Amino acid sequence: MIDGIEDLDSYLIDYGFVNKISIEMLKEFCFLPIMEFEIFILIAVVDKSEFAKNKDKLFSKPLKYINITQKMLDFELHNLTYKYSLFNIASKSVGLEDSNFYESHIKEFLKMLFLCAISFRSSDIHFETLKNAIIIRFRIDGKLSQFFRFDIGLYPILSSSLKMFSSLDISQKRVPQNGRFSQNLDGVDFDFRVSILPTICGESIVVRILDNKKAFLGLENIGFSKDVYGAILKNINFSHGMILVTGATGSGKTTTMYSILNELDRKNKKIITIEDPIEYNIDGVMQVQINEEIGLSYEIVLKNILRQDPDVIMIGEIRDENALKIAIQASLTGHLVIATLHTNDAIKTINRLLDLDAKAYLIASVLRLIVSQKLIRVLCPYCKEEIDESGIKTYRSVGCPKCNFSGYDGRTIVTEYLQVDDEVAKMINQVDIENILAYLKYKTINENIYTKVLDGTTSMSEYYSHEI
Ligand SMILES: [Zn+2]
Repeated sequence: MIDGIEDLDSYLIDYGFVNKISIEMLKEFCFLPIMEFEIFILIAVVDKSEFAKNKDKLFSKPLKYINITQKMLDFELHNLTYKYSLFNIASKSVGLEDSNFYESHIKEFLKMLFLCAISFRSSDIHFETLKNAIIIRFRIDGKLSQFFRFDIGLYPILSSSLKMFSSLDISQKRVPQNGRFSQNLDGVDFDFRVSILPTICGESIVVRILDNKKAFLGLENIGFSKDVYGAILKNINFSHGMILVTGATGSGKTTTMYSILNELDRKNKKIITIEDPIEYNIDGVMQVQINEEIGLSYEIVLKNILRQDPDVIMIGEIRDENALKIAIQASLTGHLVIATLHTNDAIKTINRLLDLDAKAYLIASVLRLIVSQKLIRVLCPYCKEEIDESGIKTYRSVGCPKCNFSGYDGRTIVTEYLQVDDEVAKMINQVDIENILAYLKYKTINENIYTKVLDGTTSMSEYYSHEI
């Protein structure tokens, strides 16, 4: 934080009070009233001395100031209508005795919140309890930002409603619970996945918004370059071998996996998936949900899967030696195995397979393709700013109402891929991993991100945040 500037996120703003002043006034005099107390009013201002000149026109009570930046104020004022409406419904719901009455309020509250989150392209909504407040944060383009702060009184009603929506045990507050629900919002069906975790301050609830459109976008539309797309298409038609999609959490692996599933010949092939959790249902694919509680572990499913006579097996994630062993076995015996692995690039993937105790000659004989991917944020076209550093032109993020003052608008996929040909297979067999890169002369994932910095898609700071 800049000196003297306070974080507005930690204040409970009384939007009922804010609403008494017109947005034009707030913009003109660059301030946001936070709360009216008996003897003073707490107010956030961009320039205290400038504001003081006009304060008597606006307020008759003494004022207490906190300093904020123009950007913080712009962010607050941008979604004021949403905030006011949500605050309004929330205040109505808290403290109501008649449960039927508050249920309808809270349903309206959640509907508006979901619509708000979706309109900002959020992937997750986080509800977190503090000592006397509840904060609501959205994850947008992979980054988490706080959008709302409400009185703690709202929390029990919110928690119960979300549990009710997802058919969870409302009375249970001490163990983690997971569920899902669907809701029609303004004529569009949305699926939500709910995770509830008890914490020292109450519960933490995360609602993931499952975007069906994204999952069924089709392999050609998710942003792969032509060569990666071609390599995947070529390799998924083989009847045996292993294809790995790798990347960190949140790198879009799931979307890639579902797009591959969509591309497969479901009519003439038996396809079985092992997932945890299943995010989308795909017609014609046998999807198995892992459920450790009842003993349906990865290991048990994998052990039994081959008896189902599959052509293609998709493994949500290879997590341990055992899963890898069975996956290799399956790909050796006439099945195509498609799996994800949690590694950052293609070369590290081979090392990871070796670490998981797989024999080099086995990896060499089954592995066909590794696609490693990352999602990088795309600079907002409306506000990005050109900078020239020692002759190299790049762009940096600024922030405007169009991008919710984040400076970015959406994400794009960046990849590197390793096609295992005879020569590469030989090198894997001899554990001569380092030479593969030199042999293939391919561009690494970070080099590909840098290309996107130079063409103005993303910023240098985004490049650094991915450089591992
Ligand atoms: Zn912008």
